[in-house]
Amino acid sequence: MKRNIYLDYAATTPVDDEALKAAIPYFKKKFHNPSSAHVLGQGIGVILEGLRGACSEAIGCEGDEIYYNSGGTEGINQAFACAISTGRKHIVVSSIEHDAVLACAEQYAKRGFEVDYVKPTSLGTITPDALKSVVKSDTALVAIMAVNNIVGSIQPIKELAAVAHEAGALFFVDAVQAVNAIDIDVKDWGADIMAVSGHKFYAPKGVGFLYVRRGVKLGTLIFGGRQEIEFRGGTPNVPGIVAMCVAIEKVHENRALYNAHIKEVSDAFKSELKFGAEVVCQNKIADISSVVFGDGINGGRLAVALSVAGVYCSVGSACSAGSATPPKTLVEMGVAHPDSSVRFSFGRQTTVEQAIKAARVVNATVKRLLAL
Ligand code: PLP
Repeated sequence: MKRNIYLDYAATTPVDDEALKAAIPYFKKKFHNPSSAHVLGQGIGVILEGLRGACSEAIGCEGDEIYYNSGGTEGINQAFACAISTGRKHIVVSSIEHDAVLACAEQYAKRGFEVDYVKPTSLGTITPDALKSVVKSDTALVAIMAVNNIVGSIQPIKELAAVAHEAGALFFVDAVQAVNAIDIDVKDWGADIMAVSGHKFYAPKGVGFLYVRRGVKLGTLIFGGRQEIEFRGGTPNVPGIVAMCVAIEKVHENRALYNAHIKEVSDAFKSELKFGAEVVCQNKIADISSVVFGDGINGGRLAVALSVAGVYCSVGSACSAGSATPPKTLVEMGVAHPDSSVRFSFGRQTTVEQAIKAARVVNATVKRLLAL
């Protein structure tokens, strides 16, 4: 019997009911353009302005430091664009960043920037000492993710930001996997720019925001109209923004409750697993578990077999799906047999019963594949 158990919440989450309900009027009844001069459009503009407060409250900043955009990839590209305006020519990224950051780094290398990659420890942490060894007086930008999307490791962002600032560099945080799982105080962290994506915390896809610390000069990535303080042209995704603001408010208020549930589900899954071992991290969220199955198992083939059996998980990130190479994060951590790994990620709708059933399906599938 097919199970239909979704364990891929790190790839994307379903839209929260309250977020969806709040957004629906903005598709038809309140469809007006917030940039229009008339009262209907202006009314929408006022609502969008007010909603910046939901985002700023959730991450600990001011409303005018929030810029709506289309999500993580755009925010990352925008952060890199600001490296140009610093006049410096060196960029540092961790070697376990999401493909969006790694691809930007490659592009900027082609444009004449020198790029250095900081490796993690075997426990998935980027240490301040490792960062210290590569930053220099010419470093324009340091980009480190708050939570890794493959193993769920949490980085010591505050300490890393201090190292970047000592060198006079801007510090960019990819917080795409963090908002859902950890408390964020962007001022305490010391981030200059931070990318957030709605679809990882039960808001729709294609909407997110960028935190930009007051005083940081960001270049325009999307030239066009005067939306987002002339910083990003294009009519904003009003229903998406409304939904995202409800969703972020909800996660901010209930994170501890959600996390307790996720931990219970994740523990139930792992204790039922008879094969494989979770990749261990120094400090991690419970939402994401990469499991390495070892010799005789190929992660891609296992994920396909699990999908046929109705358990839906990932090999690496959704954006790298289809690539034949093992998840870069595992390779960089020096994990043995990285190509035998599968990423399981849990969410609010996952039940303990589903987690146990899914683990049993994994057990049976691995056993069958090993016997082939
Ligand atoms: N950064 C991380 C850590 C991610 O996990 C993702 C998406 O998987 C992104 C960036 C890209 O975000 P988006 O899908 O909003 O472009």
